[in-house]
Amino acid sequence: MENLNIRALFPSDDGNLQQRDYFIELVKQIVEGVDALKDPEAVNLKGTKERGQHFYRELTASSRIPDGGRPLDQVNVELLKLLHGHPYHTKYFLTNILPMASTPGILGMLTAFMVNGNNLWDVYGPAGAEAEVRVVAMMSDLIGYNPSESGGYTTWGGQGAIFTGLRIAVNKHDASIKKAGVPHNLFAFCSEAAHYSLFKSMEATGLGTNNLIKVRTREDSSMDVGDLEAKMEQVILRGGVPVYIVATTATTDAMGIDNIEEIAAASEALTAKYGMRRPHIHADSALGGFFAFFNDYDFAGNPLQFEEETLAALAAIRERMQHLRLADSLCFDFQKLGQTPYSTSLFLVKQASDLKLVDLEPDETPYVGHRGYGDYHTSYTLECSRMGSSISILSALLAFGAEGYRKLLAQFVEVNIAFRKTLSAEVPEAVIVNPNNPGLITLFRLYTDRKNGYAAECEGLRTKREIERENRLNEMLFEILGRDREKMFFGDTKKHLYVPTAERNGDVALYASKLFVISPYTQTSDVAAIVDFLKQKITETYAAYERLAMKEKEHEKILV
Ligand SMILES: *Cc1c(COP(=O)(O)O)cnc(C)c1O
Repeated sequence: MENLNIRALFPSDDGNLQQRDYFIELVKQIVEGVDALKDPEAVNLKGTKERGQHFYRELTASSRIPDGGRPLDQVNVELLKLLHGHPYHTKYFLTNILPMASTPGILGMLTAFMVNGNNLWDVYGPAGAEAEVRVVAMMSDLIGYNPSESGGYTTWGGQGAIFTGLRIAVNKHDASIKKAGVPHNLFAFCSEAAHYSLFKSMEATGLGTNNLIKVRTREDSSMDVGDLEAKMEQVILRGGVPVYIVATTATTDAMGIDNIEEIAAASEALTAKYGMRRPHIHADSALGGFFAFFNDYDFAGNPLQFEEETLAALAAIRERMQHLRLADSLCFDFQKLGQTPYSTSLFLVKQASDLKLVDLEPDETPYVGHRGYGDYHTSYTLECSRMGSSISILSALLAFGAEGYRKLLAQFVEVNIAFRKTLSAEVPEAVIVNPNNPGLITLFRLYTDRKNGYAAECEGLRTKREIERENRLNEMLFEILGRDREKMFFGDTKKHLYVPTAERNGDVALYASKLFVISPYTQTSDVAAIVDFLKQKITETYAAYERLAMKEKEHEKILV
């Protein structure tokens, strides 16, 4: 660009009309560009993208910074090209907890970007600080924490929340650990169905993943509290100290919900018996916490007129979610069911004073905070600079209101119920393996004899070889669904549930395909088409499996 005017690359400093119009034109170009790529009957945006075998290597070879800058409308054209073939949240986007960013969520981000405050300190980012305090109070009140005692902040994901929960847990055990480092006898607990975030946190804190004890799950994927007690006691008797329990509410695959009330009571009683402090309990409510919007819904009056089965499902979820307030800390991943863009995770602690355990001393923060001016300095976060993502969260909370979230979540649940019914009727060989978990997720599994072998697997009646054979069949379905994901995009998991083998030589994980209702555009009227598509893919999978089985038999004959 000749005579590049550097200031033209920025919004104005005086609010003049000319620069505003230019900015709005550019935003319009992006929005119109995305709209032109949309196709509600497919999953991906239009446009082609040649992703050959060496796609990323070729990008590395060809990507260099241009010497001269390009006009912004031309840069926009480049940006829009990135979106060609991108997955988009149409009615057939059914894969995982990857939501569409709502309009208020996007506008909140835009607001934050317009002033670009640093959420580290209210002197630098007063808007972020204000929004953060407000959303922490709102969500505390929702789950039954006392907003005048609780605290929290936005962070890097549900994983970041689990990590900070662990930092607090360790320092609660012994505040000198901050300086002396971690001893090797501290242990953390979570269920076999928990997210791998805790595993990673154990590695990163130096406690080591050997000190993470996995607790068995029940058939509904919730933690087996009897097994938790037994394993905690084993640890204590061997000289260990249980410091942290992550209760998953709900799991990312099966939507199993740990019973926090039982976990709190059992761990309290056990540690009291040995004169120890109860471990810090973190509710990993990254995904499921949003169902707390139903905690004070009037189920008897049902003012939003949810259907009977939907209402029953929501009531069952609420039975578990009402105990969230018993956790010492928890998380709301707004980038999941909160309908805001990445990354907008909110970490909450019941007692704001817990954050002091992981805070810095004033003399360790020489250029921010601890001045006569400024009252809000987040020196306890693992990040230093932080984006003002709470502004986006606030925007969504104000725009949806409790009622908006209830309606959206209820729609997801209603579609999922309709899917389960139609699938069972039309494709009985697809066995639903999380039947007792209402919510947004259905896991289904195929069996080579086309019968329901799930109960036998759960009861430990199947040999390792038999389970692995069924897993292989299911993996073939994963491949076929993955290949055709442009039309409908499903998820899958290789760790639905661990079951004992008939020969009792260790537990084996079950594979299952997954339908995750996450798009606001998926409605009950779409279920027939979704099941129809699945039916075809399942037929194809059986045919492919039978061909393979035949070949292997031939091969065995030759070997014999
Ligand atoms: C998504 C998820 C996480 C991880 O959250 P990120 O925001 O991806 O870091 C942890 N736990 C559960 C239960 C989740 O669903």
